[in-house]
Amino acid sequence: MLPAMTTSVATSPLAIHGGSKAVTVDMPDLFHWPIVTKEDEDAVVAVLRTGRMSGTEITKEFEKEWAAFNQTKYALGTCNGTAAIHAAMWACGVGAGDEVICPSMTYWASAAPALMLGAAVNFADIDRDTLCINPADIEHRIGPRTKAIVCVHYTGHPCDMDAIMPIARKHGVKVIEDVSHAHGSLYKGRMVGTIGDIAPMSMMGGKGFAAGEAGMIVTNDHALYERAVAFGHYERTGVAPRYNPADTSVTSADLKTYAGMPMGAAKHRMNQTCSAFGRSQLKRFPERLQIIQSAMNRFWDLLDGVPGIKAHRPAKNSGSTMGCWYAAAGLYRAEELDGLPIEKFCEAVTKEGPLCGPAGNLALHLHPYFHTADIFHQGKPTMIAFGQRDVRQGPGTLPVSESIRKICFGIPWFKHDRPEAIKQFATAFRKVAENADALR
Ligand SMILES: *Cc1c(COP(=O)(O)O)cnc(C)c1O
Repeated sequence: MLPAMTTSVATSPLAIHGGSKAVTVDMPDLFHWPIVTKEDEDAVVAVLRTGRMSGTEITKEFEKEWAAFNQTKYALGTCNGTAAIHAAMWACGVGAGDEVICPSMTYWASAAPALMLGAAVNFADIDRDTLCINPADIEHRIGPRTKAIVCVHYTGHPCDMDAIMPIARKHGVKVIEDVSHAHGSLYKGRMVGTIGDIAPMSMMGGKGFAAGEAGMIVTNDHALYERAVAFGHYERTGVAPRYNPADTSVTSADLKTYAGMPMGAAKHRMNQTCSAFGRSQLKRFPERLQIIQSAMNRFWDLLDGVPGIKAHRPAKNSGSTMGCWYAAAGLYRAEELDGLPIEKFCEAVTKEGPLCGPAGNLALHLHPYFHTADIFHQGKPTMIAFGQRDVRQGPGTLPVSESIRKICFGIPWFKHDRPEAIKQFATAFRKVAENADALR
């Protein structure tokens, strides 16, 4: 006898209206990250047993391996990504009275270190398909004191570097790639972080490449590399402190004048339990990247053509990838669903099984920090206290960034490629989008 026909899940009533849930699998490890093996544990414990958490020998090995992976000449380990960005900005010459251009929709650390250097941030809008800085919103912001453009490869999506680099070169402005979301992403076949001048990144515990609280700076430019070293690695300017032998990372005579002191009055050394863990993770990373890409592309392929939602990924066959799809997101197009509010869409998806909500970082240009904060106690907002142009911007100036929580929602970030489970998750989104009428 043939099994009784069951109504397909996609045509059953929405779970929010009492129908059956699209997702029935219970697989917490599908999302668990980072994946920690016995080998990773042994690597960390070995550091604890040697008592050399503050050494640099393991970090230097990790730097060499990361430079090879990222296809750059130099890599410098730091204590976190925020420190890496701070050092990279200083390396690029950002100082008091200067400006940097940065997308408004990003984590604060892409921008805030500029203020600690006495500079202002001129925020640019993002593109609604890439969620990265809109190249058309950059050039008119460049002024005589603009030193750098920060590009954030948002949730792994590479920025439009072919449009950005010529603008930067024309005006003699450095390009800082913030790779914190995009370890292993390709832009037209090239690793992100190799296209601009210098690329700081986070390796914080929740990131796509997680080494604990850690960061890395990569560059092909020796002058920028040694300035980054000099900013926060006092022991790598030719001076031997208690834990580490003298090294010769810094060769510039100017910088060697201050050997033994960090120019940034900052200590950016990576804890070696993190570098040991990072080295161990890196061995498996290329393989895990492929698995994640296969899983995430499978999810979106199943949703191709569904109204109201659009994949946040580069075109196929462009040579560009999403790397490890950090904090994976979808693009919401309410206009294709007769204006169904994103909150209602997400609530109905969550009832089907996947945790879903409006996503993306809140626009930084509206935060009071970038308007009134007086960090240096000068009686003036730091954004203008060093003679910078007043580039502060109010509501309505960067509409795409300001609307991020209306146009972007969280999607499952798969760490394993399990077709049956992924299909269920995709069905949850399809079912809600195709039954949007029932939600209005
Ligand atoms: C996480 C993050 C950082 C900061 O890195 P930390 O390691 O947390 O200091 C910088 N930029 C972006 C875009 C990030 O997501």
